[in-house]
Amino acid sequence: MLETVCSSRIEEVMTALEARYPDQPEFLQAVGEVVPSLVPVLEQHPEFIEANILERLVEPERVVKFRVSWVDDEGNVNVNRGFRIGFNGAIGPYKGGLRFHPTVNEGVLKFLAFEQVFKNSLTGQPIGGGKGGSDFDPRGRSDGEVMRFCQSFMGELYRHIGPDTDIPAGDIGVGGREVGYLFGAYRKITNTFTGVLTGRGLEYGGSLIRPEATGYGAVYFADEMARHSGKSLEDKICLVSGSGNVAQYAVEKLIQLGAKAVTLSDSSGWIHDPAGIDNAKLEWVMDLKNNRRGRISEYAEEFPGSTFTPTDREAASNPLWSVPSDCAFPCATQNEILGTDARNLVEGGCWLVSEGANMPTDPTGQSVFREHGVLYGPGKAANAGGVAVSALEMSQASQRQFWNRDEVDNKLQGIMKNIHEMSANAAAEYGFGQDLLHGSNVAGFLKVARAMLSQGVI
Ligand code: NDP
Repeated sequence: MLETVCSSRIEEVMTALEARYPDQPEFLQAVGEVVPSLVPVLEQHPEFIEANILERLVEPERVVKFRVSWVDDEGNVNVNRGFRIGFNGAIGPYKGGLRFHPTVNEGVLKFLAFEQVFKNSLTGQPIGGGKGGSDFDPRGRSDGEVMRFCQSFMGELYRHIGPDTDIPAGDIGVGGREVGYLFGAYRKITNTFTGVLTGRGLEYGGSLIRPEATGYGAVYFADEMARHSGKSLEDKICLVSGSGNVAQYAVEKLIQLGAKAVTLSDSSGWIHDPAGIDNAKLEWVMDLKNNRRGRISEYAEEFPGSTFTPTDREAASNPLWSVPSDCAFPCATQNEILGTDARNLVEGGCWLVSEGANMPTDPTGQSVFREHGVLYGPGKAANAGGVAVSALEMSQASQRQFWNRDEVDNKLQGIMKNIHEMSANAAAEYGFGQDLLHGSNVAGFLKVARAMLSQGVI
């Protein structure tokens, strides 16, 4: 009976959300991925239903939207849209990255900010969930153009953020260069030097291991999943998508653990290197992507035996996921593994998926993994290492301390292990067996829901 009440309450919330935001499919998908996990939780906690926690949880606390005008190298005036979303601050100041990509809109950022609430809760650190960004595309822009854009963006954003209010970081299209320009603009406008952004350079308050943290963390999480099944990553063939920050450091950690990464991609296509991407090739990729800002197709020209396949936008599946493998690390963007891709992965022998990207697998793909018993680490758990080390960067900055590489890396490993354990325990406790997707949703939710309940209706 209670189960029926909870299910119908959840259905009501979902239906209302779909009616209110029909033009935000990614956000509806992210919420739809979480709510089925909450049925047994709400059954055990009717106080959450009475306080209408679910309906409050799916509505952001605030959405700031602003114009960003800037001048390009030819003297043309350009206009982009800027956003910052504070989704839920019940357990700490808003924390989450900034994404600069032409596909950015309010719905995409709401999906990312909603996921961030659960992810940040799972890290065990006192950070709420937020996200922001712009539809500005830094690809092909000069350093001067990127700097002027960042300065204009911060010219408005500075009013809404602060070290105790909202602490942005990087995401797609926002790396060390962009964080530097954004921080410089904030410092100048506000006349303060504070930890208002994470992912800062080491020279101005950054933390060691922060650039590596998301990619390393996704591999630590995979290692943890494998070990709990009596397996290991050593000698395993791994598919990695993307070639940005997360993908690069996922490959670096895979090499260190004796695995063999054989693919990388960007929006123009993907490369397959059956011999494996070793340290020297990875160093070349890092220089290509981070300094020369080139395309991944150049890899196949540089390394004989590897191939490049351009992206076919009309195709129903991505052939990268058809390469025979043991493990997959999607590290590019949302919805890059659809149902057919998931089936191709399973047919190719893949038994483990650890998500470096946010929501890279769609609901059909997730069902395929579940049906075939694939060890599946959802992004909100598997890629939480980045924000966890961002929180460590905040701690170091506020204590005026600087931890060495090993100290931060050990803490990161401990946090990933803990997230795995919390998710596995929550899955078992609430009747989801070993399903880490449900488990991470439940574990992330409980802490936030309790904090919201304690703070009253605000
Ligand atoms: P980067 O900008 O460094 O790299 C993104 C990579 O993904 C690039 O290779 C890019 O190719 C590719 N990509 C982006 N959009 C698309 C698309 N629509 N189709 C195909 N390829 C695409 O970003 P990050 O590595 O930082 O982020 C990757 C993922 O990890 C994102 O989902 C992000 O939200 C998630 N994440 C990142 C964290 C971090 O600490 N950076 C933390 C947690 C999650 P191209 O250059 O051609 O666009």
